[in-house]
Amino acid sequence: MTRERLFLFDTTLRDGAQTNGVDFTLSDKLAIAGMLDELGVDYVEAGYPGANPIDTSFFAERRPMRARVTAFGMTRRPGRSTSNDPGLVALLDAQADAICFVAKSWDYHVRIALETTEDENLASIRDSVRAAKAKGREVLLDCEHFFDGYKANLAYALACAKAAYDEGARWVVLCDTNGGALPHEVERIVGEVCKLIPGDRVGIHAHNDTEQAVANSFAAIRAGARQIQGTLNGLGERCGNANLVSIIPTLKLKPEYSDKFEIGVSEAALGRLARISHGLDELLNRAPDRHAPYVGESAFATKAGIHASAIVKEPKTYEHIAPERVGNKRKLLVSDQAGRSNVLAELERIGMSLDKDDPRVTRLLDEVKEREAIGYAYEAADASFELLARRMLGQVPHYFDVEKFDVNVEQRNNAKGQRITVSQAVVKIKVGDEELISVAEGIGPVNALDLALRKDLGKYQSFITGLTLTDYRVRILNGGTQAVTRVLIESTDETGDHWRTVGVSANIIDASFAALMDSIVYKLMKSGAPA
Ligand SMILES: [Zn+2]
Repeated sequence: MTRERLFLFDTTLRDGAQTNGVDFTLSDKLAIAGMLDELGVDYVEAGYPGANPIDTSFFAERRPMRARVTAFGMTRRPGRSTSNDPGLVALLDAQADAICFVAKSWDYHVRIALETTEDENLASIRDSVRAAKAKGREVLLDCEHFFDGYKANLAYALACAKAAYDEGARWVVLCDTNGGALPHEVERIVGEVCKLIPGDRVGIHAHNDTEQAVANSFAAIRAGARQIQGTLNGLGERCGNANLVSIIPTLKLKPEYSDKFEIGVSEAALGRLARISHGLDELLNRAPDRHAPYVGESAFATKAGIHASAIVKEPKTYEHIAPERVGNKRKLLVSDQAGRSNVLAELERIGMSLDKDDPRVTRLLDEVKEREAIGYAYEAADASFELLARRMLGQVPHYFDVEKFDVNVEQRNNAKGQRITVSQAVVKIKVGDEELISVAEGIGPVNALDLALRKDLGKYQSFITGLTLTDYRVRILNGGTQAVTRVLIESTDETGDHWRTVGVSANIIDASFAALMDSIVYKLMKSGAPA
């Protein structure tokens, strides 16, 4: 059976760039474009030439890619000709394979926001599509607020879409710009549009304001649309755009879609999905969403003891897909209520196979339970668990000793008479026979301690240069004067690996120190540093 081709249009670099707190540099944009190309999307909408210097320079030269590089911009302004509209001229001159115009398709917006007539807006759509085609570009028209426009004035919304189609636009994209449409509405309205314009010329652009952008995209496909627009990790303004990282595996792995449709993403690229998704977070300096469908660290994590033993026997009993298909892995959580099978499975995951009756398994389980009772949480600290297990088996080399450390916090007036707080740490370590003392100032006591600890590890220094702390979390357990502090640290390194370590103490500096030490020792071990 021949399958129909569905096209993926990524707008991470345009709509995704509207995300609160996201500011792409040109090199970020080029790196992300590379990731998207590796993934196999069909279109990469890279920005809005003329709107800002970064987007203008992106389109100043050809960016050779497998995907079609797409420039975004507005249709010609009302009352101007196409050659007399500087914005449109810049867009037509952009080095792009395709141009995606945005146009109003809601009569109310045409009158109020654009302050023009409905006919002039239609003429602007036709003229702009024609001009871009004359330049040899593939043309897309984003019909802004299409679903609201359709509900308000069906005939006019359809006229806008039809104008672009009749003029030869490759795609007419129906946008749920404010994200308020619901799946059954999208399915019905897209179905109506597809009676007028063939579905293989219709696209969907959904926003996530009711958390249904992905569902709305699938509703549109069921109704006949054959292009899906979205972003990596659902980036985008307000609540984000449709998340391609969720859409792609559903298209590839759920027979309802995979039997009918084909996309440009290969099996191999799908297997790199988790890495690509986390790579984007890396670039944005964000901790990946642990609960993200398919690619989140918890997406295939199971806690209860009874489930864990079943998963070891037959993973299919509890998983909707095999985690490896999307580059993720199964994770069994070691926790208080967990049984022996959890520990065994976790050991297997880190490559240590022990017999279930091995007395060391019992010892490890007891140790984990004891530590969890005083506040440790190993399900969120995979690296600390691995160290605990390997230490029990004598597999962790003794790299160095911390002879002592001293952290000092001082509040005083500076030379300008301003009140300032300064933190300084001194760490004395012993590597073999070598004694090393490091001093560092930090923005807080833990930061100072971290900097001093990693400043000079002697012969091991080269192994930890790529180590970076990406997250630091403090939690006070069982409050009051008996309060215990739990510190969770997330680290990453030059290979893109992430790991988490935990420290617990009545004292926040001690708890942080323990978690920092585990992170460093884990990094040394994983880099194969010699004892
Ligand atoms: Zn949008």
